[in-house]
Amino acid sequence: MNPNLHLILEEADQAIQRRSINGYRGRVRCGVDLGTAYVSLFVLTEDNQPLVGTYTYAEIVRDGLVVDFGGAVDLVRKMKAEIEERLGFELHSAATAYPPGVPLTEVRATRYVLEAAGLNCSALVDEPTAANAVLEVDNGAVVDIGGGTTGIAVVQDGRVIYTADEATGGTHFTLVISGALKIPFAEAEARKINPAEHPRLFTLVRPVMEKVGSIILNHIQPFDVECIYLVGGTSAFSGIERVIESVTGIKTIVPGNPLFVTPLGIAMNDQLS
Ligand code: ATP
Repeated sequence: MNPNLHLILEEADQAIQRRSINGYRGRVRCGVDLGTAYVSLFVLTEDNQPLVGTYTYAEIVRDGLVVDFGGAVDLVRKMKAEIEERLGFELHSAATAYPPGVPLTEVRATRYVLEAAGLNCSALVDEPTAANAVLEVDNGAVVDIGGGTTGIAVVQDGRVIYTADEATGGTHFTLVISGALKIPFAEAEARKINPAEHPRLFTLVRPVMEKVGSIILNHIQPFDVECIYLVGGTSAFSGIERVIESVTGIKTIVPGNPLFVTPLGIAMNDQLS
């Protein structure tokens, strides 16, 4: 695994806060992640250090498919302008990603969103492969539990040899909390992403975590997987790794802040511009 992982993830947090950069004029890599719950844009230096980043909640993608093309273009254009202001120069290209199970004909919409927002799409990668650009796992399973999808990749000798995705993720956690506590979705979502609420909510969402664990196990059982690496925003729910480990019987790790792993990996796939 990448020995600098914690450092990179800390730098990603700082990149979100950074309002301007002090004179960096080297080439940059840019990545746009169009997610079910969050859309993010990160810019890295040419040696992959996070410079600036932004993310926002948006409902423009469902099950990995762009369902609001105009809304997605407007949002990416706005985020691009904000980031250019903070950088002090224009961005011309970016990489983006898709959940592994989405047909390539549908994936094209993701590329068109970038192009309509003024960014040349330099690379289109699947999400768990993007995540592994950051994790640098040689052997194991990388599981990206996002808002609407869970992407699974089995890595052997540093190569992704199997990918899959399933339509389950953090949105289901929120729906369960909303139903159980009889509160609106938005309120349930706000409580769910607050770590202080996690101990109280754990028993409610545990069955959904167990379901995610059995889905992961179904996919990785044919392979010799020694360790599962959890990324994606839903992996930030405290204690999820213990549940996945008990269902699968396989050692499970959440590496630092899991929310930014895939967005950073997407940016790492951008050709230098
Ligand atoms: P997908 O990959 O399915 O298209 P996405 O890219 O939007 O979705 P992520 O950005 O990785 O997915 O994660 C978003 C999900 O993570 C949301 O459901 C959000 O509620 C959840 N999430 C974010 N932060 C936390 C947190 N601290 N605790 C629990 N869940 C969180």
